[in-house]
Amino acid sequence: MRKIFTDFPICGTFELSADDAHHVVVVLRHTVGDTINVTDSTGATYECFITGMEGHSAFLTPARKVSSGLPTSGAVSIAAGLLKNDKFDWMVQKAAELGAASIIPVQMEHCVVKLDNARQQARQQRWQRLALEAAKQCGRDDISHIEAVTDFQSLIDTYGSSARFVIPYEKETAPLADVCKEVRTGDVIICIGPEGGFADAEIDYAKKHLPWCRTVSLGPRILRAETASLAALSIIMYERGFK
Ligand code: SAH
Repeated sequence: MRKIFTDFPICGTFELSADDAHHVVVVLRHTVGDTINVTDSTGATYECFITGMEGHSAFLTPARKVSSGLPTSGAVSIAAGLLKNDKFDWMVQKAAELGAASIIPVQMEHCVVKLDNARQQARQQRWQRLALEAAKQCGRDDISHIEAVTDFQSLIDTYGSSARFVIPYEKETAPLADVCKEVRTGDVIICIGPEGGFADAEIDYAKKHLPWCRTVSLGPRILRAETASLAALSIIMYERGFK
């Protein structure tokens, strides 16, 4: 079932957004008296009655709380170099399905794509919309948060103290399997290079400045960046019981 999200906490009768109202009324053909599950901005999910419809609006009233919110035992996120064409779009959609908490687009040295400020913001909004759609489609209780495009050093400086970094690196031979047990809980960032791979200086910077970082191999084959992101995310989510 497709999910409905609100960007406010539910605490009484509320009106659906025009987009969601259209989906509920026109696509799913729900009517007054039907119930649907809605997840609010705190991550809590309520079973709600449709208590009113007016033109293109729908009003919902919560009947009971189905679940109370987001897990607090840490989350897995992806920081990835910007990619050409629609490859980053594809990665965002699939990573959202697999449960990435957030996705951080990174302008790295070997990125073929270079986005100016206006295009960075437009892409961020587009990726956030894709993440929302993916969450609705797969029934997630939360939505992958798309961060603003950042550069590699800021990524390390901003998140190094709060998350552990697993860096699939094409020149590494130590297998991901060796570090899986260490990232079963807590906040973890999987950091993936762009099509051109990591610059040596980026790996040096990460190793020097991160309190916890492991460069790992995903095997003898060089994977496309988007394949590498999803392979590493799938393996680590599996280790964490897909929570
Ligand atoms: N152009 C580079 C490959 C870049 S692949 C070269 O030919 O060497 C893009 C990114 O995917 C890499 O930076 C890395 O983060 C990840 N990746 C791809 N294959 C990998 C592998 N076998 N092991 C670890 N990381 C890999």
